[in-house]
Amino acid sequence: MGRVPLRGGGVHRRSRRRHRPRGAPAARGLARADSHLRGGATRRRGRCRRGHPRDRPRGRPMTGRRLTRVPLRAPDADVVVVGSGVAGLAAAARLTTAGRLVRVLEAGPVAGGRVGSALHDGFAVDEGLHLLDAAAAWPTDLVDPAALDLRPLDPTEGLVDGQDAPVRLGDDAVPATGPLAAGISRPAAPALPAHGLVALTVQLTAHLDSPVVTGAHVEVVRWHGGSWQVVGDHGTWTTGQVVLAVPPEEATHLLHGTRIEHELAHPEWLGTTTWWLAPEAAPSPSRSLRVDARRAPGPVAATVVVTNVAPGYSEDGRALVAATVPHRGGRPVAGEAAVRAHLSELWGTAAFDWPVVARQDHPRAVPVPVPTPDAAGPLALELAPGLVLAGDHLAPGVTGALASGDAAARVLLA
Ligand SMILES: Cc1cc2nc3c(=O)[nH]c(=O)nc-3n(C[C@H](O)[C@H](O)[C@H](O)COP(=O)(O)OP(=O)(O)OC[C@H]3O[C@@H](n4cnc5c(N)ncnc54)[C@H](O)[C@@H]3O)c2cc1C
Repeated sequence: MGRVPLRGGGVHRRSRRRHRPRGAPAARGLARADSHLRGGATRRRGRCRRGHPRDRPRGRPMTGRRLTRVPLRAPDADVVVVGSGVAGLAAAARLTTAGRLVRVLEAGPVAGGRVGSALHDGFAVDEGLHLLDAAAAWPTDLVDPAALDLRPLDPTEGLVDGQDAPVRLGDDAVPATGPLAAGISRPAAPALPAHGLVALTVQLTAHLDSPVVTGAHVEVVRWHGGSWQVVGDHGTWTTGQVVLAVPPEEATHLLHGTRIEHELAHPEWLGTTTWWLAPEAAPSPSRSLRVDARRAPGPVAATVVVTNVAPGYSEDGRALVAATVPHRGGRPVAGEAAVRAHLSELWGTAAFDWPVVARQDHPRAVPVPVPTPDAAGPLALELAPGLVLAGDHLAPGVTGALASGDAAARVLLA
C-alpha cells in the first residue's frame, strides 16, 4: 500500500520583509559572554513580557566587570520556532503576519507534528482519528474554518447494557476509554475536515514567508553572546527570540544546563493505536462516532465510518472506517483479533476481513491529565525574556495547541 505524505509545506517565496542574510558580515559589539539563564531565569506566566535579553539581562547586573568583548553575528531570524506542530505553525504564522522574519525548524520529515494526513491506498489517512470542533473560537485571521470545509458528525451513539442495537447517546457522551475519555475532544460540534486534517497545516503554513525547515533536529537552545543560539544537526541559528513548540520533556532536553531544565513539569502521556480499515461497503449509513458505553466495554474506544461523514477521504468512493484503541503499560489494550471482534459487535456486521489501510501507534498521543481550556493556567509560558514555550500540554487538543502557539507569538510581540 502506498503512503504519500500530503504535505503542508510553506509557500516558498521571497520575503517581502527585511532580510538578514545568514552569511552577513559579523557585527562587533559589547555583549555579555555569560548566559543569563544560569543566573536564575524563572518560569513565568506569559503575556507580560519583560525586556528583551539584550536590554535587560536577568540574574546579574550589567557592570563593566562582567562585560566581555565578543563578536556578535547578525541574527539569522527575528524568531526561530522549534517544532512545526499546530502550536509552532500558529506562532510562526502570527509572527510572520506581524512582520517578523521567522524560521521554523522541524525534526520530522514534514510539517504538522501530530496533525497531518497521508495518502494510503487512495485514502486520506489522518495521523490518528482527530475530531475538530466546528464551534471552536478559531483565530480566523490564521485559520479559515469555512475553507476547512468541516463536515459535522451526528450525535454520538453507542452500545449500552440491555440493548441489542446502538442507541443515540448525544455529543457529550464520553467513551469509556481512550483519548476521547481523557477529555481532549468533547467538541461542541464534532467534525472532520472534508479532505483530511492536512488542510489545517496547509492553511497555517501558507502564512509563512519561508518553508518549514524539515529534518532539522534541534539539540540545544542557549543564550550566548547577546543572542539566542539554536543549535542542531542543521547548524546554528542566531536569533533574538525563540518559541519552543515542543513537549516539555523535549524543552527540558534543549535547555539542559540551565535552571529552566529543572522547572518544567512533565505530563503523563496517553498512547493510542488507530486502525484504518476499508470494508467492501460501509457497515452502516451512520455519521456518528460509535462507542461502547456498557459496564464492561471492549477495547475500541471509538469508531466512525469516516467516509460517511467526509466522502472526500476516499479518492474512489470506497468506505473508510477508523477505530481508536487506547494503550495500557505502553501497549495497545488489545491485538488485532480482539479489535476486529469488537468492531463486529459495534457495527453489527463481521469486520474480520476488512482490509487494513493503515495502523498507527502513538505511544504519546495526548498529555494527561489534560488541562481544561478554562483552567487558570497560561496558554504559553515565558521561560526567559525572548524564550516562550507553547503546545497542547498547556491547552488541550488541536484548538488548544493553536491558541497556545498564538499566545506565545503575542508574548513575543508585546
Ligand atoms: C492519535 C491522536 C488522536 C488525537 N485526537 C485528537 C482529537 O480528536 N481532537 C483534538 O483536538 N486533538 C487530538 N489529538 C491531539 C492533537 O493532535 C494535539 O493536541 C496537537 O496536534 C498538538 O500540537 P503541538 O504543536 O502542541 O505538538 P506536536 O504536534 O507534537 O508538535 C511538536 C513538533 O515539534 C517537533 N519537535 C520535537 N522536538 C524537536 C526538536 N528537538 N527539534 C525540532 N523539532 C522538534 C516534533 O517533531 C513535532 O512536529 C490527537 C492526537 C493523536 C496523536
